[in-house]
Order: sequence, then C-alpha cells, then structure tokens
Amino acid sequence: MSGFVFSEKPIQIEEGDGVYVYGDDGTEYLDMGASYACVPLGHGHEAVHDAVTEQFGKLTYVQASYPNATRTALYELLAETAPGDIDYTWLCNSGTEANEAALKFARAATGESTVVATMQGFHGRTMGSLATTWKSKYKKPYEPLMGDVEFVPYDDPAAMTGAVDGETAAVIVEPVQGEGGINPATTEFLAATREATADAGAALIFDEVQTGMGRTGSLWAADASGVVPDMITTAKGLGNGFPVGATLCREWIAEDYGSHASTFSGGPVISAAAGATVETILAEDLPTHAADVGGYLRERLREELGESVREVRGEGLMVGIEVGRGANRALKELALNHGILALPAGRTVVRLLPPLTVTEAHADAVVEAMAEVVG
Ligand SMILES: *Cc1c(COP(=O)(O)O)cnc(C)c1O
Repeated sequence: MSGFVFSEKPIQIEEGDGVYVYGDDGTEYLDMGASYACVPLGHGHEAVHDAVTEQFGKLTYVQASYPNATRTALYELLAETAPGDIDYTWLCNSGTEANEAALKFARAATGESTVVATMQGFHGRTMGSLATTWKSKYKKPYEPLMGDVEFVPYDDPAAMTGAVDGETAAVIVEPVQGEGGINPATTEFLAATREATADAGAALIFDEVQTGMGRTGSLWAADASGVVPDMITTAKGLGNGFPVGATLCREWIAEDYGSHASTFSGGPVISAAAGATVETILAEDLPTHAADVGGYLRERLREELGESVREVRGEGLMVGIEVGRGANRALKELALNHGILALPAGRTVVRLLPPLTVTEAHADAVVEAMAEVVG
C-alpha cells in the first residue's frame, strides 16, 4: 500500500445502491454515515448520474472566468434557496476551502482581522480554517497558525456578545456542531451572535458544511433559526459525492472580497452534480422527510436504549448517541455484526449522517442493532 494519512478499515467497499453499499465480498451494509454526509440522495442517484454524464458529454471543463449556463444555473438556484439576501456564490472543491474563502472575504470586506470561533468547533484542516478549529490534536504539529482567533464556549450568548467588538472581522459557527459531538445551538445563541456581529460590523459565517443540504430538517440549518448570516459555507452533501464546496454571501461581502480565486472553481461537471442534487432535495422535499425520520429515530433510540446511553441528540438526520468511551467498539460491532456503517464524533459519540432517503424501517434496524451493541 502506498497511500497514507487515512487509517484503513477492515471492509473494502466496491459498490453502492441507494442507502446500501457493498463490500468486495458482496456483503451488504446500511450506510448510516454516508461517508460524512456526502451522499444525501443515496448512492448512484439517477438525477445526478444523468446530469453529470450529459454535462461531461457536452463540455468537460472550462475555467470560471468564462460564463457557462450550467454554472450560472447553480448560482441562481443557490441564491434562490439561500436565506434572506444571500445572493452571491463562490464555488470551490471542499469544506475547508469554503471556510478559507469566507475568512479571507471577511477580512477584506471589514478591514479587520480578529476571528471569533467556538470551543469544540470544527472548520477544516487548511491553515486558516484549522486556526478556527478547536481541537489541539489537529493543530499542534502545524503551529504557528493564523493568529487573532478567539474561542468562546459554544451556545453561550453572553460569552459571544462579550467577545465580539470593533476589531472582529468574523464569527464562524456551526448551527449544529458535527465533529464536536452533535451539539445543536439554541436559536437564542444564534440570534445573539447575529446581533453582536451586526452591531460591530463583523461578518457572521454559518459553517453549514455538515448541516447544509437538508440534513437538519430544512435546506439550511439557518432557515430553522430565522437568523440570516452574512455567509454560509457548505460542501459535504452539495454534490452527492462529487467534490464541490460553496461560500454563499451577501452583497456587501461579494463587492469587497479582495482577489480570491481557484483554478477548479465552478467546473461545469461538478456544477451539474450540485444543481441536480439541490433540485432533487427540494423536489422530493427531503428536508421534511429528514425531520420526520430523524425525529422518529431519536425517539426510538431514547425508548430502546434508555439508561444504557448517556444522551441521544441532534436535528433531523444529524444524530449523535453519547455512549461514553465505548464508541469505537460500538462502531466496529455495528459494522461487523450488524452490517451498519456509522461514524464517530470524538471518542464518546456514535454519529449518524445517512442519506436523507432512509426510511423508518432503516431507523428500526439501527435501533435494534444499537440496543444489542450497548445493551
Ligand atoms: C467536514 C467539515 C469541514 C471540512 O470539510 P472538508 O471538505 O473535509 O475540507 C468544515 N466544517 C464542518 C462543519 C465540517 O463538518
């Protein structure tokens, strides 16, 4: 093996269909992790397949300085569906790049440098995004990072209000923390953060790389809070498996963003994938489905697991089960004994981010398996 960085799992995945993936030996697995929320429509979705093959046949690639109808359609779709007057889109290839751009845009548009981020927050692994990520394990070997980052406790309105001032360029926050353990913020916290940033002239960035694309029960987690930030970043579910990220922003950011760019920004094939993904999520009302099935799943997990877990939490189909130190053993048993792939969130939480198309019957299968694993 010549690859490195990723530790290898004992299961080799070769095929996928809807909510299932298949090992090289033909074993079927219910994909409750969707490789970190990357496949909201399920594997091999026809709409994405058709859009991508049609675009590839027409034009493989053109750089973003040439207007292109497929890319323009995606810009328009995102502007229509983003909250409030968030009408501008910068396209890139990943979540960390979307946040990197947001941080640069905020500095350019405000002329300030300080960034306020949250404890347990995760925003990616390139140098700027990494500087706003909480966990020291991710940062230590690479220091010194970008300076001027202040961390406040998550979901603490007073701490946030106290930290934001005239020198703040941006606040970056996940509406529901993913990597940090599936921690939903209260609307009160998001509203207080909005008020503090507006008063200070700072940019409010919602990192929706994980919460976006219908996962939490609305297309954007911002929708449920009623809070309109200045920028929304997204990536994971945006292309249903194709590498695409986006930084959506208001006009005051877009008109003074500096000189950011990237060679692969907004290629027509990934634009086709993202356009088909967003259209299908909306046409099939998958956010409502995610809210319903996610609510059902959490309720049944609470009923069946009772005292054998510490907490079941989340929004829509972003679900965390706090099992204590045994999270990794639970994940291994789920995979090898029950044919269910799930994810960790830190060392103590089993995280579920399935395709938004999972049904109550799939939820029942997970509940039954979890009851055996932790019971
Ligand atoms: C995964 C994630 C990122 C980083 O995305 P990459 O595509 O891995 O760079 C940033 N923010 C949040 C909230 C994430 O979940």
